[in-house]
Amino acid sequence: MNLILMGLPGAGKGTQAEKIVEKYSIPHISTGDMFRSAIKEGTPLGKEAKSYMDQGDLVPDEVTIGIVKERLSKPDCEKGFLLDGFPRTVAQAEALEKLLSELNTKLDYVLHVQVPEEKLVDRLTGRRICPECGATFHVEFNPPKQDGKCDVDGATLMQREDDQPETVKNRLNVNMEQTKPLLDYYGDKGYLVDVNGDKHIDDVFEQIDEKIGGLAK
Ligand code: AMP
Repeated sequence: MNLILMGLPGAGKGTQAEKIVEKYSIPHISTGDMFRSAIKEGTPLGKEAKSYMDQGDLVPDEVTIGIVKERLSKPDCEKGFLLDGFPRTVAQAEALEKLLSELNTKLDYVLHVQVPEEKLVDRLTGRRICPECGATFHVEFNPPKQDGKCDVDGATLMQREDDQPETVKNRLNVNMEQTKPLLDYYGDKGYLVDVNGDKHIDDVFEQIDEKIGGLAK
C-alpha cells in the first residue's frame, strides 16, 4: 500500500493521515516532521533545512529527496507507506518514481483531499492551538470547553502566525500554484484519487478506506 496524501492547508490531511496509518499499520512519512525533528536534534540536516524553512521556502530537492530515499529504504516501508508533504515538486515526483522502481515497487494512489477555498479560510482562521501541549481547537467547529483555554491543561490558546486572516489567503494561493503541476503529473499517470474533504471526518475517511481497502487484501 504505497500512498501519497495531498491537500491544501486546512483540508484535514493530518487527521486523515492518522486514521490511515492507524488502520493499516503503515509508516506516516512527513518530510515537514522529519525536518522539524532534525532541527530539534540540531543535526547538520536540521541546520540546513532551518535556513529555508524560516524563510517559508522549500528545502532544496537534492536534500529532500535524499532523506526520503533513506527513509523509504528502511524495512518498515516494505508493507507500504503514506507520504505526506512529499513530493512537492515535479522533480521530487520523478525522483520518487525512480526510487520506487529501484526498490521493486510502485505507487498505488495519490489521495487528494479537496475542500472549497472559502471553507479552508474559515477552518484556518478559526484554528487555535495550545502552546503547551499542541492540542488544536476551532472557535466554531471544535470550541474548547472554556473560551480561549486548553481543555487538556488550561493554557491560554494561541493563533498560529500563519493562520492570521491576512496570511491565510496568500498561503493558500501559493500552495495551489505549487501543487497544480503535481496534480497534473499524477492525473496524467492515472494515480490521482479525488476525495471530498468537505464532509465529516469519518465520511472523508470512508471514501479513502473504500479506495485503499482493496490494497490490503
Ligand atoms: P510541512 O510541515 O509539510 O508544511 O513542511 C514545513 C516546511 O518544511 C516547508 O515549508 C518546507 O520548508 C519544508 N518541506 C517539507 N516538505 C518538503 C518537500 N517535500 N520539499 C521541500 N521542502 C519541504
